[in-house]
Amino acid sequence: MWQTIQGHDHVIDRFRLAAMRGRLSGTYLLVGPEGVGKRSMAVQLAKAILCLQQDSEQSLNACNACESCRLLDSGNHPDFHTITKRNDRQLVTIDLLVGDQNHRNREGLLVDMAYKPALSSRKIAMIDDADLFNIESANTLLKTLEEPPPGAIIFLIGTSQNRQLPTIRSRSQVIRFGRLADDLVADLLISKGIISDPTRAKELASASYGSISRAIQLADEELWQFRAHLFQCLVAPGIDRLRVARAAAKFVDGAGTETYVRRVRLQQIVHFAIDFYRGILRSQSGADPEGDSLLRQAIARSQTDATGPDDTLRRLDCCLEMLTYISRNVNLATLIEWWIDALARP
Ligand SMILES: [Zn+2]
Repeated sequence: MWQTIQGHDHVIDRFRLAAMRGRLSGTYLLVGPEGVGKRSMAVQLAKAILCLQQDSEQSLNACNACESCRLLDSGNHPDFHTITKRNDRQLVTIDLLVGDQNHRNREGLLVDMAYKPALSSRKIAMIDDADLFNIESANTLLKTLEEPPPGAIIFLIGTSQNRQLPTIRSRSQVIRFGRLADDLVADLLISKGIISDPTRAKELASASYGSISRAIQLADEELWQFRAHLFQCLVAPGIDRLRVARAAAKFVDGAGTETYVRRVRLQQIVHFAIDFYRGILRSQSGADPEGDSLLRQAIARSQTDATGPDDTLRRLDCCLEMLTYISRNVNLATLIEWWIDALARP
């Protein structure tokens, strides 16, 4: 079963050792870049631990045949509870943990976790977006981490240890995930049937910075073409504000009418610009710019070198600031104009 998790052998070994010794912890904080397999790891661990076959927890091998394994695969296991930030919210809010005001302490993940296991020997929770707790939800979670239900295991999924509140971090075993190797990302693209041409798979892998989910996104031809177009625009000595803002707005509009999908599309565009300016910065400091050939060519042609690392850093900051604005309830067209204006400032 562990063949589906690749590139993180040291993490699997660590869990195996703890399981063999009967020393699994109550809370794990899995941190690392987006799209490298943290959620898949938590799900596989939950499957092995909840499996009804004898010794599956000690060996961390699920049988894949019992009722528990089947229910987990179908996403309906009564002892495996997961939450993820709601699309219309910026943060993980308290209602997901203990119910909204009308159902406080009657619904939510922590309420479910307090019940005895229905099928397996433990209750397991996976909390996605652990980077995004507000104070209220973090404090509520903390109470459970301080006095966890017997045998419960909680997996918190986040991008960086530094983004967690110290009180939560100190009660968790931190497990770090690194980027996936480019060759592995390319192999995964082919084995998952997303790409058939090995050269193209390699190109996408080198643009993915070790994230399979990012590589899969980039396999969308429309997105890939826009990325190339954006690099061309950014390379020009004076950014043509009107042209770039129009192109970005049109591309965002093309994502659909729902605000959420438009936001995601705009985030993707900003991430492309971040790739570009990070590459420039690396190149300005004499390091390898990293990334795919398209990005490398753009960086080589770029004339922003004349402006120096301070300006690149300022533009990079603009992009990061833009990402925080996108998640707020701000008009996207206005945001795009603000962003491009800020990037174009000499
Ligand atoms: Zn099983």
